[in-house]
Amino acid sequence: MKHSLCSSVENKYMRLYFVSGSYLALGIGLGPMNLAIAAMLHEEHPGEKNIFLEKERCFTWHPGMLMENASMQTPFLKDLVTTRNPCSYFTFINFLKEHGNLDEFISLRNLFPTRLEFSQYLSWVATKLSKNISYSSEVTKILPIKKLGKIEELEVHLEDSLGKRKFLAKNVILGMGFKPNLPSGIEVDDKKIFHSSNFLRRITDNYPDLLKPYSFAVVGSGQSAAEIALYLMSNYKNSKITVLSRGFVFRGLDDNPIINLLYASDSGEKFYSMPEISKKNYLEHLTTSNFSAADSSTIMEIARLNYQRKHQQLPTINLIHFCHIISAFVKENHCEINIRNTVSDQSEHLKFDGVLLATGYDNKEPSIPILDELKDNFILDSDGKYMTDFNHRMIAKDNFLPGVYLPNHFHNIHGFTQGTIADLPFKAKKVVSHIMNLEHSCKR
Ligand SMILES: Cc1cc2nc3c(=O)[nH]c(=O)nc-3n(C[C@H](O)[C@H](O)[C@H](O)COP(=O)(O)OP(=O)(O)OC[C@H]3O[C@@H](n4cnc5c(N)ncnc54)[C@H](O)[C@@H]3O)c2cc1C
Repeated sequence: MKHSLCSSVENKYMRLYFVSGSYLALGIGLGPMNLAIAAMLHEEHPGEKNIFLEKERCFTWHPGMLMENASMQTPFLKDLVTTRNPCSYFTFINFLKEHGNLDEFISLRNLFPTRLEFSQYLSWVATKLSKNISYSSEVTKILPIKKLGKIEELEVHLEDSLGKRKFLAKNVILGMGFKPNLPSGIEVDDKKIFHSSNFLRRITDNYPDLLKPYSFAVVGSGQSAAEIALYLMSNYKNSKITVLSRGFVFRGLDDNPIINLLYASDSGEKFYSMPEISKKNYLEHLTTSNFSAADSSTIMEIARLNYQRKHQQLPTINLIHFCHIISAFVKENHCEINIRNTVSDQSEHLKFDGVLLATGYDNKEPSIPILDELKDNFILDSDGKYMTDFNHRMIAKDNFLPGVYLPNHFHNIHGFTQGTIADLPFKAKKVVSHIMNLEHSCKR
């Protein structure tokens, strides 16, 4: 299944819009986080100068995992705006209404749309805001602009179809997502060993024969691993699928209504105010509310298909629990994996036609290269990492006046909703209100 999600919006408005002077708010990256911020600026502060720079050529949301039947893990009411302003133009409900789908959606009696439909909703919002978005614009670095010993503005450098350019900004909002987590010892190869972020394109390009008895290894045991396993079982009927995980494959997500409150709008604020020891305790005990676990309906479907395969005398899925991958690499025309069982301490050598890494994203964010030239201005924690305050603003030294916001990062500081779409309207409100308050009280 190939997706071409780019429409004609792209950069057609931008040539007209770029003007001289400084942007009050400049967003870097246009995923759901910055889209929620762009929507709030548009609705509540239409006169303020803002721009959002996205390196891709149009709006996309994890296209490598946009399988046709994959469902959202958050209800549609957690869209970009509803919990901030249910009357906003940019609600998912209004998107359904404008596309003539509201009645049919209601009759499904399902809070969880497909990811494909939610992605279409996000693209619809981006299209409405396209006057303030520049696609094919990759930010490469940010430099400080000093006046009389103080840093007052930032110079944001980017590369786009017009070449290298720079914009001035009083506040930048980093919404660049996370980098794929690639465990050490695994040699990624574009054709045979690749990360889930590239799954759909690479699998269709490199494994075109749906009837061939390919052998696939899926590494991981979270939602992406489950969705990839399910995709392979459904599309490659004769394939032999092995799922390898350092934990138990597959644990169900802890998503009961009490645990789900960890993802409520004000949960980030509550988490922020907890003592460090409580934060650590929460993060340790409740990881399966989001990570290293899969949705029970996906697991049920895997089990159902597996049972069906058994009756059809097709290969059934092989689950390898509690293993550590020592190495994985391509040799001649196949992939080799060396694993060690962490319970029995026994090693094993396996061979596959393809290795698919559902190993998640690096949410610890060890470095943000575009900030390298600003780094000396920030106050770092004892591990040398950036920190953000209550308003998601990076904590900086006194002579650093611009705002650098990182609203969707740092689980250790703001809790479980970070890196998700669970409370985007709330975070957007915090960031935008903070920028506006500082601007209008001139206490920057
Ligand atoms: C397959 C999948 C499904 C998910 N489903 C859910 C779900 O149902 N519910 C949920 O709560 N969470 C879900 N998540 C979690 C996910 O992280 C969030 O949904 C969301 O994408 C985070 O938004 P974001 O804007 O912070 O980052 P992203 O969506 O990652 O967007 C970052 C953007 O920044 C751009 N960018 C990066 N660097 C630069 C640069 N230097 N210059 C310009 N642009 C740049 C990227 O191209 C990208 O478009 C899912 C994640 C995955 C991988």
